[in-house]
Amino acid sequence: MLGHIIRPLTEWYKCNKRDLPWRTSPTPYRVWVSEIMLQQTRVEAVRTYYLRFMQRLPNIRALAEAEDDLLLKLWEGLGYYSRVRNLKKAARLIMDQYGGLLPASYEALRTLPGIGAYTAGAIASIAFGIPVPAVDGNVLRVLSRMLGSYADVTAPRVKEAYRMALLDIVPGTRPGDFNQALMELGATVCLPNPKAAPDCPACPVRGECSAYSMDCAISLPVKTPKKDRSVEKRTIVLVTVAGKVLLFRRKRGLLAGMYEPLNLEGHLEVDQLRQILKAYGCEAGEIIPLPSEKHIFTHIEWQMHGYCVKSIAFPLPDDAVFADLAQLADAYAVPSAFKAYMRYIV
Ligand code: SF4
Repeated sequence: MLGHIIRPLTEWYKCNKRDLPWRTSPTPYRVWVSEIMLQQTRVEAVRTYYLRFMQRLPNIRALAEAEDDLLLKLWEGLGYYSRVRNLKKAARLIMDQYGGLLPASYEALRTLPGIGAYTAGAIASIAFGIPVPAVDGNVLRVLSRMLGSYADVTAPRVKEAYRMALLDIVPGTRPGDFNQALMELGATVCLPNPKAAPDCPACPVRGECSAYSMDCAISLPVKTPKKDRSVEKRTIVLVTVAGKVLLFRRKRGLLAGMYEPLNLEGHLEVDQLRQILKAYGCEAGEIIPLPSEKHIFTHIEWQMHGYCVKSIAFPLPDDAVFADLAQLADAYAVPSAFKAYMRYIV
């Protein structure tokens, strides 16, 4: 049954695909970078990042040789920073083992850091014309509805079953267009509820769709609810000396290598903060409370209290810098979690 969707879907895609910068001249490198950026991130948010990234790092050699600070700066605000670290790791490996060219093989692509089944399928089909599927969240939703299946799409065995079903039908001619057409349908027509609703009357494959014929599209796909996030209380302190702000380089964790203001556990009172600053050797002047903010990561929510502290001197600890506004704009990557507070540095 799925085989019947190929023609109407690819015809629809030809006329309705969005004009996206990575779709013009889809070289393996451009497809790879765009697919990594698009993971967990909206298309509209990726456009500017992608263009800037390509301008600074136009090829695999440039990526392999890029400084970590530059990479993190180019990724600043996109989140999930392990993605860009893996890009560089993979680029180095490609330089060492594949003569600087992405391998034209699904299996070889899968062995590279940060490249899973979906990304390998996307690069292989779009850039190399290899007939393999690329199953992302959009495709899972479309397939679950097309098949009228109530199987949980977050289960690995269900994802694999859908991948295998597609492997049987991906066309040998322009497989990348077929994969992108499925994804495009999920992104623009077969939309997820409750955020939006599928626009079935506009769908080119509604005649083949079980959910449409059974009028149950909005109850699909079935997904296991995500676990509740844990909550952490933090106190964020903007210490400024002579118009520059104190930033620490994070050594560990997801945000390793990025810069952050003084970031302390718990919600601290002014007196407690003064004691901590003293331990750093800082004689704090006025301590000004800032509004509370929160930031949501995948598994954790930070509930933050903030302060601004003007200090005459602050002995610079290891792994710390004083940054002015120009350096904040060009040199030091600060995670979005602190964005709400960084705007007070003016
Ligand atoms: Fe999705 Fe509706 Fe098209 Fe079925 S008919 S694939 S539910 S948009």
